[in-house]
Order: sequence, then structure tokens, then C-alpha cells
Amino acid sequence: MANCEYDIAKLSSPSGHTLLDARHLIEVRETLGKGLGIFSREKIPRGTRIVAESPLLKATAVSSHVVNVQAAFNNLPPPKQRAYLSLHGHASETLKKENDWESLPDLNRRVLAIYFANHWGRDVFWIASRFNHSCIPNIHNAYNPTIQKETFHSIRDIEPDEELTVSYVSGMCVRAERQAQLNKWGFQCKCPACQDTPDGNKIEQQLTRLAMLRQELEMAAPVSLPSKKNLDTHRKMAALMHSTGLVGKYLNNCYLDAALCSAIMGNVQMAMLWTEKEVEVDGYCLGQDHPDYQKEVGVLRQLRSAAKSKKPFHYTHIKWVLDWDEGPD
Ligand SMILES: [Zn+2]
Repeated sequence: MANCEYDIAKLSSPSGHTLLDARHLIEVRETLGKGLGIFSREKIPRGTRIVAESPLLKATAVSSHVVNVQAAFNNLPPPKQRAYLSLHGHASETLKKENDWESLPDLNRRVLAIYFANHWGRDVFWIASRFNHSCIPNIHNAYNPTIQKETFHSIRDIEPDEELTVSYVSGMCVRAERQAQLNKWGFQCKCPACQDTPDGNKIEQQLTRLAMLRQELEMAAPVSLPSKKNLDTHRKMAALMHSTGLVGKYLNNCYLDAALCSAIMGNVQMAMLWTEKEVEVDGYCLGQDHPDYQKEVGVLRQLRSAAKSKKPFHYTHIKWVLDWDEGPD
């Protein structure tokens, strides 16, 4: 490809290296049965910002549910169009039904199939589109408004030659539900949690338990309801997340719930300890320049000061980073 910026083979070359991320630590390779994937070239420590990128294509919103992908593609300059067309596409039966597939010209079909196989929100990314799925991913993605880019961080240490994966599945759910969600990408998940082996089934048992605990909490809404039982459930969930390797945003949310629960119960020391854990997870998932991380550090500072103070503690003394800053219902 003439334009070096969109030459995936040059990811690791000095010209591909930017100060914003560590893409020189990865390379795109053929996987066993999953097409291309992203692999580590060397050991990558937890919390490394592996990729920070702007969208290659941003679909135009026609309404809240409908986007115009073709118009967005037509507006791209030729090097970006060529880069876009080199991505993998998959046309699910639903996509075909919704788009009068047989009547569409080949190029339109390709543009749509690539979009629906690769989009995050309304965006398609050049490098990040190559991250394959795992139900136990080692990468977390989030939009960072400070640098105005989508970021992809390692959430645990990654060994050389290991594949880097994100989760395409939303919510904590069991194997059959995850696979049902993955069907639109047209593949069968073979991640460690989806293998019908003693090890795979052991992980799946823990994930099933996690999904059940989550459901129990939701039924006892609000999640932060201050009770010893709820706090105990958060603790069990955190332990299960650690043992399965689900150590990204779910773990962060679990720590936040536990911190709130403790604070509402009046235990500032416990709230502080849970928040310390939450800040740690946010740090490696988002990076320290992310506004959410900085807000959480602010909460931790307030809790530390409240813990030192001799005054009686009430959770409303803390300015939490929540939708319900006024307190729970
Ligand atoms: Zn899986």
C-alpha cells in the first residue's frame, strides 16, 4: 500500500511509533482459524496503552438507530478507503435481510459487511479492528476525551507472542448467551472459557456463578443497597473475577459498588480500601490522563481525609463520581 500510515506491516517500524501509544510492541499475524489477529512482540506490562487511535471511518447518524455507512465511506479520501476495504467483513443473515442484499452493488455490500463486523459504537478503527474476541479479554478499550482517542490498554501482563483480545460481548453472561451474541460476527468462540474441557468448564462454572450473583444484586436494586449481604456479594464477585481473569471494567464497577455500600453503612475505612482497589483498576484500564481516573483519585483523597478526621462520617460528605451524587433513592 502506497500510504505508509495504513500499512499494517509497518506497525512496528519507527515511523509507526507514536508517543501516544506502544503499538511498536504488537504485530498483526495469522491466527489458528480466526483470520488475522494482534499479537505481542515482547512482554507487555499491565496498564500499557497499546493503541490510541482516531476512527478510520465514522458513520453518519440518520436517526438514533440508523447510520449511513456508505455516505461516510464515500467521503473518505482514497488512502483511507483502501485501508477500510482491506479490513475483514462479515454479512450476517440479519444484515442481509435488513438491506435488500441481492440488489446492492458489490462495493456497497463490502462496505456494509466491513462496518458491521468491525464497528465500535459508530466508529471503525484501523488497528483496533484486528483485535479478536475473548470472553476473558486481556485488553480494555475506552474513549479518552483528554486525548480524544479510543484507547486500548493491557489489563494484565501479556507474554511475548500472546494474542491480544477484547470482548465483543456485553454484560456478564453464560456461555450460550455469549455465543448467541457472537453469532452476528459468524464465529464460534474458542476462548479458555468456551472450551468444553475440564479447565474450560471450571472457568465457565465460575462465570455462571458470577452472572447469578449479578442477577441477585440487580433484583435487590439499588445495587449499592447498604447491607452486609450485598457487601458480601460484591466481595464474592471480586474474588470470582480475579480467579477467572475478568479484571477489567467489571471488576472496577464491583469495587465501586462495594465502596459505596461500605460508605453508606458508615464504614469509611472499608470504603477507602475498596476505592483504592477501584482506582488501581481504573489506572490500568483507562490510564492516568483519563478524567474518570482523576475523579476517582479525588474521591479517594476525600475518603482518606475523612478516615483521618475525628468527625462522625456520613457518605454524603464525599462527592462521589456518580449519576446520583445526591445519594441513592
Ligand atoms: Zn469465549
